[in-house]
Amino acid sequence: MALTDNQIERYSRQIIVPGVGGRAQERLFASCVTVLAEPADAASVIAYLAGAGVGRIIVHPVGDPALYSAIVERMRDLNPEVSVRIAGDEISDRCDLVLALIGDALAAQAAASVAREHRTGAAVIARLDAPGRIALLPSPPPCPLCAEGDLLGPPAARAANAGAIAMAAVAEAFKLLAGFAGQQLDAELIEFDGYVSRPRALGRRRLNSAVQARCGCAAPA
Ligand SMILES: [Zn+2]
Repeated sequence: MALTDNQIERYSRQIIVPGVGGRAQERLFASCVTVLAEPADAASVIAYLAGAGVGRIIVHPVGDPALYSAIVERMRDLNPEVSVRIAGDEISDRCDLVLALIGDALAAQAAASVAREHRTGAAVIARLDAPGRIALLPSPPPCPLCAEGDLLGPPAARAANAGAIAMAAVAEAFKLLAGFAGQQLDAELIEFDGYVSRPRALGRRRLNSAVQARCGCAAPA
């Protein structure tokens, strides 16, 4: 799908960013992201995704879905070209990526249940407690359930730079969706200590067989 003149105008600021370009913008536009986050965290992330022209954004509510209606409404004004809606019972909607922000225990629970019941393909999981961590899971294994680091456990106190971690997670999601990360397809964990971010390879942890069966990744050798 080629970009129209209007779309080139609308997205020109990021198309001229080195490494983005029209091809990547087309891929963003054709892509679908499921966002899982509590309303306060979801609002800014969804605005960023919609403003950048991610074609379909499905909001997986944490708690009361009604709390997300205003966010979805605002996105219709921000960028009428993209579709933003609240997920119903049918999360099985095949999206390209799940972007989960784990800011509180409820979000952690919701992310764990999505991982168990629907199994995610690619996922970016941001832990908003300190120290901030972003897990990049281009495709399983490891899935969010069996990745090292207990990604879906209940979070501790919120990090002072939680907003910055959330935005960094969105940037990583863009890279995966637009495919301009140079085909870096290994699972990675990026840790923030407030000054620098350190990426490292992310492997699978040893699990008891009950969890292993639920996670759906092939049993490790
Ligand atoms: Zn797994």
